[in-house]
Amino acid sequence: MSDPITCPICTMPEPLATADGFECATCGHEWLADIGDGIGEVRDAHGTLLASGDDVIVIKELKLDGKAGGVKAGTKVKGIRLVAGDHPIDGKVNGRGILIKAEFVRKA
Ligand SMILES: [Zn+2]
Repeated sequence: MSDPITCPICTMPEPLATADGFECATCGHEWLADIGDGIGEVRDAHGTLLASGDDVIVIKELKLDGKAGGVKAGTKVKGIRLVAGDHPIDGKVNGRGILIKAEFVRKA
């Protein structure tokens, strides 16, 4: 288990996830999610714990960068890698690397 994510200013745990990082609910400090091992536990839409190397199935159509041509629901993503941040699942769809929110997948 990695250490829980804490606010770098006031050290309170369990910050809120934002689009590209975290926001501390206590002091309002925002920071980017590129801090070392700040991955924590990643659970799918059903609460199943995910690990790097798992296969997952996308359960909701995903838009990529807000553009058309995203990922369709039902797409299988093989051999995911967990990364720190708001979109903790790093996988490849049709050869393209994407980051996915854990709540939009289920373990295959
Ligand atoms: Zn804080």
